[in-house]
Amino acid sequence: MLHTAPGAQQGVQSEGLERPGTSWLLRCPFRVATAFTHAFVGASIASLPDTSVPKVKLCLVGAALAVAPDLDIAAFGLGLPYDHPLGHRGFTHSVLFAALAGAVSAGLLSSWRQAPNAARVAVVLAAAVASHGLLDAFTDAGLGVAFLVPWSEARFFFPWRPLATSPLSIRAFFDGPAAPILLNEFLLVWLPTLLGLWIWRKRQRSLPRRTRG
Ligand SMILES: [Zn+2]
Repeated sequence: MLHTAPGAQQGVQSEGLERPGTSWLLRCPFRVATAFTHAFVGASIASLPDTSVPKVKLCLVGAALAVAPDLDIAAFGLGLPYDHPLGHRGFTHSVLFAALAGAVSAGLLSSWRQAPNAARVAVVLAAAVASHGLLDAFTDAGLGVAFLVPWSEARFFFPWRPLATSPLSIRAFFDGPAAPILLNEFLLVWLPTLLGLWIWRKRQRSLPRRTRG
């Protein structure tokens, strides 16, 4: 399914979003799926199970955690190159980071007496974080996702990359083709996610109450 993308850097360099006189972030040419879509998918995943954590609270945490991996853009300000293990789409987009973020967040949201519940919360929040890297691997520009850091620095994309990418800079995003990007993500991510939620809810309602997830 996934394949490494050693030559993707050329795609990044050719996008030409540099603006003289602006900060490093505003000049940053690197692109991502939009934060709106990451948050929507994270909240949707967090909404699936019934736990002792209030549903709205879990959804808000899931949304925030699904956006959080792109905080790694701070690495550019620290002088780290894109392809560094701690660079953009590096460690914070890895499977290990998702597992750690899910476990720590579940520990903060659940008491030690709620161990079975905490495990369920940890899994669902780890999935919300992991959804970020998976979505990025469907985007059509930038470097691939370093899912396996620290064990491997290889960058991965899916063979099919239909998601139009969005600038990291908010100004570049709204100055550019924001509407087509959002429409693209609505059709390819939001609608399938909503369909999946509908099927999940329908299935849950058909199950005996004690077996529901
Ligand atoms: Zn990302």
